[in-house]
Amino acid sequence: MGYQVVNRHVLVVGAGFAGSVTARELADAGRQVHLIDKRGHIGGNAYDELDSHGVLVHCYGPHIFHTNAERILQYLSRFTEWRPYEHRVLGVVEGKLYPFPINRDTLNRLYGLQLDEAGAAEFFERVREPRDPVRTSEDVVLNSVGRDLYEKFFLNYTRKQWGLEPSQLKAGVAARIPVRTNTDDRYFTDAFQAMPLHGYTRMFENMLDHPNIRVDTGVDFADVADLGSYGHIVYTGPVDAFYGFRFGALPYRSLRFEHEHLAGVERYQAVGTVNYPNDHAYTRITEFKHLTGQEHPGTSIVREYPQAEGEPYYPIPRDENEALFKRYEALALAEDAVTFVGRLAQYRYYNMDQVVGAALAAARGILAR
Ligand SMILES: Cc1cc2nc3c(=O)[nH]c(=O)nc-3n(C[C@H](O)[C@H](O)[C@H](O)COP(=O)(O)OP(=O)(O)OC[C@H]3O[C@@H](n4cnc5c(N)ncnc54)[C@H](O)[C@@H]3O)c2cc1C
Repeated sequence: MGYQVVNRHVLVVGAGFAGSVTARELADAGRQVHLIDKRGHIGGNAYDELDSHGVLVHCYGPHIFHTNAERILQYLSRFTEWRPYEHRVLGVVEGKLYPFPINRDTLNRLYGLQLDEAGAAEFFERVREPRDPVRTSEDVVLNSVGRDLYEKFFLNYTRKQWGLEPSQLKAGVAARIPVRTNTDDRYFTDAFQAMPLHGYTRMFENMLDHPNIRVDTGVDFADVADLGSYGHIVYTGPVDAFYGFRFGALPYRSLRFEHEHLAGVERYQAVGTVNYPNDHAYTRITEFKHLTGQEHPGTSIVREYPQAEGEPYYPIPRDENEALFKRYEALALAEDAVTFVGRLAQYRYYNMDQVVGAALAAARGILAR
């Protein structure tokens, strides 16, 4: 039997950033909003909760908020206070830990050098393998740091993360990762980097706490009966699923998260995330207390195992996938009564701040009708 709807103006499918921000904007503008998510909770992939030992963990992998957009920060600040946090990552190569993204300290420690900034720039210039045009991820990395660093830090990590060779992935994947001649060891360099003071879930609860918003979790869009009673639908799930996979399924990379609590261990690793490019089946380990600042006599970590099957997490950036998405996008753009927004609906790797921006724009579009 289908899920019976109440007569609301707008149905929003998915309670992650895309759905929740759109719902709030429409509610603030006086619309009645019914927000559903097939999962048993709000927050989408940013959902966090206390584990059974009382440590705040991110159930779907580490989420660090960073943005250069003051407007997005101000918007979210309506629903949360912040804890300043700059994420740092170390990569294990041949049993030793090195700053990642690669910076001058990485070079000096790895090769026993004492380069200054100009020396590091010369080093990269000497070892790089110029590529023209730069089409794939392999091109990007070889073109900037050369073969040895490529093999030590990127090649096997990419194989694990994507199940593909770097030469099979579009340039944009590797272009996300900078290479530095200075000693800046922050993972992100955005003007604003912070974590919601009481966690993401609390921030979502505040965002959705509005008399015009009704939230139902554990409800799949496929089970909603009587869609006609809604004036408009905002859909943040996978666009191919919306159209019954009529052109075929859009490829995604999935992850298995292995959470572990270490009782009596106050600190497991020196920084928030340690990458294992060459060893183990997992890509990285994150220790949440670095991110959240929580004090606790034990600690909780998560290992990420990339896999082909499972929840869709990362759109796989290849030309043929982009072409397939374009076919679905053409259908989506022709819809009058449905707005598609978010990383699954737009088949795009979006950071959280970008999704907030996209959702604010989507809400503006709906209200302008
Ligand atoms: C491992 C990992 C780490 C990340 N780390 C960062 C980071 O550090 N910083 C950063 O800025 N971004 C990060 N991101 C990206 C971030 O997760 C996304 O930008 C954000 O979650 C996207 O929000 P969304 O609402 O578009 O999608 P989602 O959060 O996925 O929400 C979509 C929701 O729709 C629901 N849904 C789907 N289909 C249906 C259906 N048929 N019926 C009902 N509900 C449905 C899903 O259950 C889901 O809850 C990370 C992503 C991953 C996978």
